[in-house]
Amino acid sequence: MLQLDSHPTGRHFLQIPGPSPVPDRILRAISLPTIDHRGPEFGELGKKVLGGIQEVFRTRHPVVIYPASGTGAWEAALSNTMSPGDTVLMYETGHFATLWQKMALRLGLAPEFIGLPGTDDTGLPRSWRHGVQADLIERRLREDAGHRIKAVCVVHNETSTGVTSDIAAARRAIDAAKHPALLMVDSISGLASADYRHDEWGVDVTISGSQKGLMLPPGISFNALSPKAIEVSKTAKLPKAFWAWDEIVEMNASGYWPYTPNTNLLYGLSEALDMLLGEGLDQVFARHQRWAAGVRAAVQAWGLPVQCADASVYSPVLTGVITPQGVDADALRRSIHERFDLSLGTGLGKLKGRMFRMGHLGDSNDLTLIAMVAGVEMGLKLAGVKLAESGVAAAMDHFSHHASPTVLKKAA
Ligand code: PLP
Repeated sequence: MLQLDSHPTGRHFLQIPGPSPVPDRILRAISLPTIDHRGPEFGELGKKVLGGIQEVFRTRHPVVIYPASGTGAWEAALSNTMSPGDTVLMYETGHFATLWQKMALRLGLAPEFIGLPGTDDTGLPRSWRHGVQADLIERRLREDAGHRIKAVCVVHNETSTGVTSDIAAARRAIDAAKHPALLMVDSISGLASADYRHDEWGVDVTISGSQKGLMLPPGISFNALSPKAIEVSKTAKLPKAFWAWDEIVEMNASGYWPYTPNTNLLYGLSEALDMLLGEGLDQVFARHQRWAAGVRAAVQAWGLPVQCADASVYSPVLTGVITPQGVDADALRRSIHERFDLSLGTGLGKLKGRMFRMGHLGDSNDLTLIAMVAGVEMGLKLAGVKLAESGVAAAMDHFSHHASPTVLKKAA
């Protein structure tokens, strides 16, 4: 794309599970002139986005916005609430859960990493094909009579696998064990695409990022807080300065930040909030569920296994596809990129070379998703993979027989 001597026609198909395609409306908003971040106009913008983002997290409590990628917001969540040597119970759902656990180690915490043991008949780790098993969390917390575990950390939508987790069940597990640990949830790729309820599900810190369901470029990230998390942060001893919630929350009350915020991405956030809240969050979630079902219909027609082995936790954001033995998923992705200008997500960590990921989020619609399915189908055939049936036909069938919730709403 950056080669000066090439000029591909049409739009690149950015079908990785984030960064997601950014709507033109948001790109235009971001291109407006940067304003004084201490001036009167900015305070209005700040108040608007801070209020709107609470609605997206479904919380009445403060949401902190950082000029950082999601990794920064992970660090913020841990460093505001934990003290050196604290034990954190982290659940292994995939590559991102693993990276968060490595970060906890680097911060001087003592993570315990639990999950389903072993591999299944595909040779892939079972824990990377299923969501969080709340009973494992409950059992471990019941054993912890001395309450050494200070937090339970789970990923809501594991972007490396396309598996979601039942966050309300994780909360019930903590409550059933009568354990005081905080519940921290990474919904970096779930927020604004998959149903999420910070307050109702009793989450203490939710971490998210801009470049997935919020349809913005990468560059801002979030911590949604609970009153308990704020209380704990007052005595937590890990070093924190840039990430410290207290000064930010205090200045946010008037719509400002203690440092220079990411002004133009906040213009984009303001536009994204108008779009998402205007459509209605439940409508947004139904739209993603429908897209995901159409893409899965294609994968099932091809006769290839979906990475998520539990139909009750299929991700509405992305679908992971396991390639047949002997077909290198990365070589397949490269060829699809070269031939059809379509980017797919790579297999991360333990899944390298074994699967690819198809994103169905951001500025998409039925026809862009059918184009993605067509690009993958052509690539699979070129790689010599024998397909049971046409995935394109299955996706078209699905989308024509399941009316879009947005179209239905317009017609009503
Ligand atoms: N957690 C999840 C679930 C993610 O999908 C990602 C990025 O894709 C991250 C954490 C890390 O976020 P970032 O790459 O924005 O730092």
